[in-house]
Amino acid sequence: MSVLQTLQARSNSSCELCTGTEQLKQYLIPPSLNENVDNSVLVCKTCLEQIENPELMDANHWRCLNDSMWSEHIAVQIMAWRMLQRLRKEGWPQDLLDMMYLDDDALALARATGEDQDESAKIIHRDSNGVVLETGDNVVLIKDLKVKGSSMVAKQGTAVRNIRLDHENAEYIEGKVDGQQIVIITKYVKKT
Ligand SMILES: [Zn+2]
Repeated sequence: MSVLQTLQARSNSSCELCTGTEQLKQYLIPPSLNENVDNSVLVCKTCLEQIENPELMDANHWRCLNDSMWSEHIAVQIMAWRMLQRLRKEGWPQDLLDMMYLDDDALALARATGEDQDESAKIIHRDSNGVVLETGDNVVLIKDLKVKGSSMVAKQGTAVRNIRLDHENAEYIEGKVDGQQIVIITKYVKKT
């Protein structure tokens, strides 16, 4: 049986988080790469949209976690834990979290995306004006920058499209200048 078939069988073809049945999809829990039944869940359209867009979170929808957090399946427990962490300021999700138990491996995967960290502890990239930078943003350089390890100078005013963030350092982003991928310090760029 494929992973998807196993998920459909174990969930009776319903969303493993809310029991909805609309547009069910297999969801691989990030940052997992190799899908298996312990890191994949079957979720409906409503759940998936909110999992992927924290700004769309509708706390009431997630009252369903009251039940699904007790699932026997590790992957479901992990996603329940993440969504409860995301909503913990509402109060009731924190009460549920206090009752939850994940084993060490499951907890390590659950924590991998930082849902349990406060915003201030997350690595946030900001440009020279303090504007938050996201992957895929376009920026311009606000001064001439020497490119390390080459004789190239990236000129002030150069547009850098589709930047990547350094997830370990809030001061670094990457982008292409003259066809070359370079590391750029965030305080020398402005988001466009
Ligand atoms: Zn759902």
